[in-house]
Amino acid sequence: LVIEDGPSAKKHRRSTKVDDDAAAAERRKLIDAERRQLPAWAARDKLLQLLQEHRTLVLVGETGSGKTTQIPQFLLSARFGSRSRSRSSTAPGKPTSDKAGAAGTPGDIKSPQKATGVVERDGASRGAVTQNDGPAQNVHHVSINGSDGGGAANHGGPQQPTGKSVGGSDGSRAGGGAIAVTQPRRVAAMTVARRVAEEMGTKLGDKVGYAIRFEDVTSHSTRIKYMTDGLLLREALVDPLLSRYRIVIIDEAHERTVHTDVLFGLLKGVQARRGEDFRLIIMSATLDAARFVDYFPGAVAALIRGRQFPVRVMYTPKPEDNYLDAAINATLQVHADEGEGDILVFLTGQDEIDSAERLLKDRLATLQGSRGPTSSPSFGSRELLVLPIYAALPPEQQMKVFEPAPEGQRKAILATNIAETSITIPGVRYVIDTGHVKARDYNAKLGLESLAVVPVSQAQARQRSGRAGREGPGKAFRLYTEADFSVLEPTTPPEITRCNLGSVVLQLKAMGINDVLGFDFMDPPPRAAILRSLELLYALGALDAAGCLTEGVGRRLSRLPVDPMFGRVLLAATEMGCGQEAVAVVAMVSTENVFHTPRQKEREWRAARLKFVSREGDHLTLLNVFRGFLELPKESNKARTTWCSENFINIRAMRKAEDIYEQLVRFLGHPSPPGLGLQLATCGEDSTPLRRALTAGLFPHAAKLQPDGSYRVLATGRQVFLHPSSVLLDRKPACLVFNELMHTTRTYARDAVEIEARWLPELAPAVFAAKTIAAAAGPGVGINERLAPATTGVAAGARGRALRGAE
Ligand code: ADP
Ligand code: MG
Repeated sequence: LVIEDGPSAKKHRRSTKVDDDAAAAERRKLIDAERRQLPAWAARDKLLQLLQEHRTLVLVGETGSGKTTQIPQFLLSARFGSRSRSRSSTAPGKPTSDKAGAAGTPGDIKSPQKATGVVERDGASRGAVTQNDGPAQNVHHVSINGSDGGGAANHGGPQQPTGKSVGGSDGSRAGGGAIAVTQPRRVAAMTVARRVAEEMGTKLGDKVGYAIRFEDVTSHSTRIKYMTDGLLLREALVDPLLSRYRIVIIDEAHERTVHTDVLFGLLKGVQARRGEDFRLIIMSATLDAARFVDYFPGAVAALIRGRQFPVRVMYTPKPEDNYLDAAINATLQVHADEGEGDILVFLTGQDEIDSAERLLKDRLATLQGSRGPTSSPSFGSRELLVLPIYAALPPEQQMKVFEPAPEGQRKAILATNIAETSITIPGVRYVIDTGHVKARDYNAKLGLESLAVVPVSQAQARQRSGRAGREGPGKAFRLYTEADFSVLEPTTPPEITRCNLGSVVLQLKAMGINDVLGFDFMDPPPRAAILRSLELLYALGALDAAGCLTEGVGRRLSRLPVDPMFGRVLLAATEMGCGQEAVAVVAMVSTENVFHTPRQKEREWRAARLKFVSREGDHLTLLNVFRGFLELPKESNKARTTWCSENFINIRAMRKAEDIYEQLVRFLGHPSPPGLGLQLATCGEDSTPLRRALTAGLFPHAAKLQPDGSYRVLATGRQVFLHPSSVLLDRKPACLVFNELMHTTRTYARDAVEIEARWLPELAPAVFAAKTIAAAAGPGVGINERLAPATTGVAAGARGRALRGAE
């Protein structure tokens, strides 16, 4: 608790430049006190003990109870994440060592040679132990309802895992035996890692780090690694036994993202093969432990009892036409009428949050003006601090929502559903729930994946309301009627049942799991969706006619950290001599919101945009932007900032794109696996090779212009419209390929590029065989049906339906 006292501590700090100012130490002290109040702390010893005795622990606890931030630290301080796991003389989880570790330097473990059982950084930390009245003498907050009827209360110090049957793992190398914690969302991985690094007093990327796609903030010393579930899945591709981890924690399991679900199946296998050497923890915020306990052999469930204050839930008397307006009104009203406490508003995405922020600030400015500076000292006169939080926000801004509002101010946090369970923001007493969420949906029959704004489930609505009652009685305003609530789906179906499975199936195949239909899914995805992805992968050349991964294209695609269709674009581009351009395009489409489009300056930004517009399409336009950016001197931040603001371009997106570009170039060029050893040429000003490469990967999204100005997707027959943001809108080409479909009032094709129809049979013969191309102008061509039996081996009826596409 008080490591900063004592001369040796100071000396140590000075020499290592850790915690070099008193304010930081003070903050650590506060944070430490806060941590101890968390429900997870009361359960600490019991949880560690359970984990000694069981290979799988299903941990259920109210959002905000400290699961994500505390449990990994407990494990580390109990030496679960230590490198010297089999030689140590100290039993992990042994109360004396825990307390010392927890009290002195939370989670800080000495290097193996010096480990003695009592974690001690210096004299001061030992002194702190006495102040610690024990985080978890009372384990009664944990109730056990697992398969074995409750863990034994063995206080003599549980046995150390033996570390036998390592099964090919390489626990001795640096980084071995670490703790992986998966998160469905990047923001959660980043903000939580940052927080835990602060709690542990280490630099982010040192003992605690995070890794998300295209961003790895870890090092050899990293013991706790927060990462997206998708990334762990990628790691399993090269390290099928996940041998560098001693413990894997699947956090936010209730979210049931597609990656989490696939990990479930893989981890079951890892467990079977690694035995005692490996521990799995499933953490969830909802009371669905039974599903997980049933699925994992020998799993035991534990419940962390949180405290939850009552939340008054209010509905609107009649439906709202525009939930965004309603949310703004509600926020202002709460601000004016309600007592102390921050406001958390659930919106669906970045665009919406950005416009809500603007509108709120405008309204606040108007109100302020009309009221004058000397208003009554009611809460309504407080300043309202509007803070957005979403994935694309830079980390400094993300962290702002966690800071307490300054004296006399109230925070209004505009969040996506990341604030539902992934992150807990202190201070919230009011929740405004728009009742909507952006969710993936997949129509296997049409091969149409969409990200659409849909109503939340009842379970989500409850989670959202619950955020208001963490620190005291709260209020939740649901911007829909009680009748509307009653007809919402009770829960959200797992994502795996409603998404495109292309990259997941490819990864399973690459891991040697050939029988994807027979994979041990907790909830199997629809057969049609699996079949569809098998067809797609076959058409891309990733699978052979027997459904096995092809060593050339398939193996390489599985390694590329991009969607298989874009992976195919990259591979084709290296052959067509436009590798550099293709990588730039993929980097650009992987970032969001490149263009800044302020409503008040529409004329200006449209004019600026013209400089970059390519009449051949959006991809080439993005390429022009990227080229323009790269021409600026990299060292000159000023030149870049000026250029971006003059051109209404988002500099953050450009930096991100540059980073992705560099990583992909390195990755493609690196001579040894997972690198592909490919040379990247440039095609200069000739766009044809690039458009052909795009065709070679995006051909499932090839579409032809119809007389009415809409487009027809050739592979499915689906009618789509060019997205209003497309540069091709004024000059609709006869044939194009596009990145993705977006479904709002109608189905839009986003990011499109002109192609020649005659390229299709050449570049995608599996789909556009010469004899079918004639029919392509008509109502839809299915993927070549002859090939399906070998690829999938399923009953003809289902296959026929899945393959035929829409008429
Ligand atoms: P759980 O995973 O059980 O939902 P967490 O471990 O995420 O809980 O959060 C535990 C506590 O830590 C919460 O009270 C939350 O407010 C606090 N917390 C988490 N992240 C931050 C942060 N970045 N800044 C400040 N407090 C945080
Ligand atoms: Mg959590």
